Amino acid sequence: MHMPMPAFLANLFKSSESTSPMYLVASVAACVAVFLIVSRIHAQPEATTMHASTTKTATSSDTVTVRLLDSEGRLTAAEEVKKVVKSDEEWRKQLTEEQYKITRGKGTERAFCGVFYDNHKEGLYSCVGCELPLFYSNAKFDSGTGWPSFFQPVAKENIAEEADNSYGMRRVEILCKRCDAHLGHVFDDGPRPTGLRYCLNSGALKFTEMKLGATPSDKPASAAPDKEKARTSGKREKAVFAAGCFWGVEATFREQKGVTGTRVGYSGGVTKNPTYRDVCSHNTKHAEVVEVTYDPEVISYAQLLKVFYENHDPTTKDRQGPDYGDQYRSAIYFLSPEQEKEAKEYTAKLTAAKVFRAPIVTEITKASEFWEAEEYHQQYLEKNGRAKCHSGLNVTLP
Ligand SMILES: [Zn+2]
Repeated sequence: MHMPMPAFLANLFKSSESTSPMYLVASVAACVAVFLIVSRIHAQPEATTMHASTTKTATSSDTVTVRLLDSEGRLTAAEEVKKVVKSDEEWRKQLTEEQYKITRGKGTERAFCGVFYDNHKEGLYSCVGCELPLFYSNAKFDSGTGWPSFFQPVAKENIAEEADNSYGMRRVEILCKRCDAHLGHVFDDGPRPTGLRYCLNSGALKFTEMKLGATPSDKPASAAPDKEKARTSGKREKAVFAAGCFWGVEATFREQKGVTGTRVGYSGGVTKNPTYRDVCSHNTKHAEVVEVTYDPEVISYAQLLKVFYENHDPTTKDRQGPDYGDQYRSAIYFLSPEQEKEAKEYTAKLTAAKVFRAPIVTEITKASEFWEAEEYHQQYLEKNGRAKCHSGLNVTLP
């Protein structure tokens, strides 16, 4: 993974030779930046003084818009639900003394003392007061602070934020949207992809162990924009491509008319059910891939191949621009003998036409199992309003 480059930098790279030391400089700089961000730790000072807890009166209009979980543990669309409002006495009865101090009295547990800071189990963290889903374990990271830390909530709708200027500091307090439980604070020194660090109190959380994304093929591909859907015939086919950082590759395919859905994932390697971290280690041999679902009557496989070759550099082995590593290799993973034939013929045609300055190194192999990537990687650029990470070589292809 890498930071998407600003346009002027991307242009600089595009025009430089493939062996330019600029790539190295940029990669090293990016690594150092990441290291600095990750290693920067802001300790959350221990709060021992309790704020007076407030008791609210329930009214029928007291509603909030949040996301819940369906029976299969997936997030629902945002929906309006009643706020959970209880008396001070009711909260005291429901919660332990520690949980009460934290959630209703805005307390902070001692670092390294909570039950979840070192919890590495897979599952869901929900609000201890009302069980609203708050964080998945796959967004948890080891911040070194001694408090459970996450880079992103299950849904931004579920977390309320308020300025907190207590103890002579400017901080942003985070609260449960449904029951107003104090959860902790959010800081802007977290790791990528969000750069945020949600610093939680274990005492505000309830943990439920569950498998997250353990069934890679059962989830429908997320739909491309509605206007495209209306024009499709109903027929669906799939294609799998690897062309560098899957964020940008996915965004490029989603722009194509006739592409009805996409998923990013890992394929072409050996490890079952790999995580992003596993793939970064290079031991899995997986490439970052995009599975494209398309309507063959609107866009053909041949047209997808053209999009593929136009939007990345197929001449550099295990590298795209500043991204080095075998997970960034260029590959076409065919799903049928017809796709294999088309991919090989088109690649041979491009080679014969000498459209690229260097030989094409794209791997053309039969698709192996597709392992869907973590939810935070899906439609990453759309979710985060970022520019694409890299682009093609500005060549016109036949
Ligand atoms: Zn709650």
